[in-house]
Amino acid sequence: MQYYQPNTIIYHNGAFVKATDAKMDLYSQSLHYGYSVFEGIRSYRTTNGSTAIFKAVEHFERLKLSAQAINLPYAFDTAALIDATYEVLKQNNLGDAYIRPVVYAPANMSFARNTESYVFIEAWEMAPFLGDKLLRIATSSFHRPNPKAFKIHAKAAGHYVNSILASQEAKDNGFDEAFLLDMNDCLAEGPGANVFFEKDGVLYTPQPGHILAGITRATVLELSQALNIEVKEGVYSLEDIKQADAAFFCGTAAEVIGWASLDAYTFPKAWEQTSSYQIQQAYKQLVVKPLVQ
Ligand code: PMP
Repeated sequence: MQYYQPNTIIYHNGAFVKATDAKMDLYSQSLHYGYSVFEGIRSYRTTNGSTAIFKAVEHFERLKLSAQAINLPYAFDTAALIDATYEVLKQNNLGDAYIRPVVYAPANMSFARNTESYVFIEAWEMAPFLGDKLLRIATSSFHRPNPKAFKIHAKAAGHYVNSILASQEAKDNGFDEAFLLDMNDCLAEGPGANVFFEKDGVLYTPQPGHILAGITRATVLELSQALNIEVKEGVYSLEDIKQADAAFFCGTAAEVIGWASLDAYTFPKAWEQTSSYQIQQAYKQLVVKPLVQ
C-alpha cells in the first residue's frame, strides 16, 4: 500500500508540508503509550464532479470528543480543519480518498496531562478496506475492551492494539476478518467496523455501550428509516446472529460489506435479496451525492 510519495503534501500544525519533511517528536507520549486520537474519513468524487468529504463535521466533532474523553488538549477548530482537509485533497489531486487526522501529545514520558497537542492530516487513495466480496468472518478469542477500562466511545490509538490482535488472529486462521464479543459475551463489533444482522427483513445492531457507535452506523439507521426497513438496537448473542438471514459490517473504511459466513455458519439468504443489500446500494449512492451548501 502506497500511502505517500516524495511530493505528497500533508497538513501539520497549521502548515502544508511534504510528508517526507514532516517531523514528530520520538519522545511523544502518544508514541510510547498509544495516547493519541484519530479519525478515519472518506471523500468522494460526486456525481457533479466536485469532491465532497462525507460527514466532515461529524468526524471532526468526534475527533474533538475523542480528545476530550482522554484529557488531550484540543485547541483546533472544526471548520478550519475541514478547510485544511480540502486543501490537502486539492494539493494532492485526490477525489476519492481516505483521510486520516491525528491529534497527538508532546514529549512526555510521564502519565501527567499535557498543556498542548498537535495535529496532522494525511490523505491517500484507498479501496474499501475489506474488499467488495462477501466476507468470511471468525468470532475472535479477544473481547472488545471493558468500557470501565477505556473510554471506548473515543477513537484513541491505544484501543487499536485490540483490533490488530483480533484481525491478525482471524487472518492467521484463514478468515477475512474478526468479529468481537464484548466482556459479557454479547455481540459487539469488528476491529474497525460496526455490525448489523438481518432476520425476516428486520435489521438488528448492538446498542451503544460496548462499541464505538460509528458514523456509518448512524447513516445506516437513517437510510433504514428512509427505506422503511425496521431496525432494532439491543443486546444480542452469538445464537441470535447465527440464526440470521444475513449480516454486514459498516464503517467509513469498509463502507457497507456483507458477510458470507460467521465461523461455520453460512448466511442462507442470497445477498441481493436482503434488506442489507438495499442499504448497501443506498449507501453507495448517498456518498457520491453533491454537497448542498
Ligand atoms: N468500530 C470501530 C472499532 C472502528 O474503528 C470504526 C471505524 N471508525 C467503526 C466502528 C465505524 O465507525 P465509522 O462508521 O464512524 O467509521
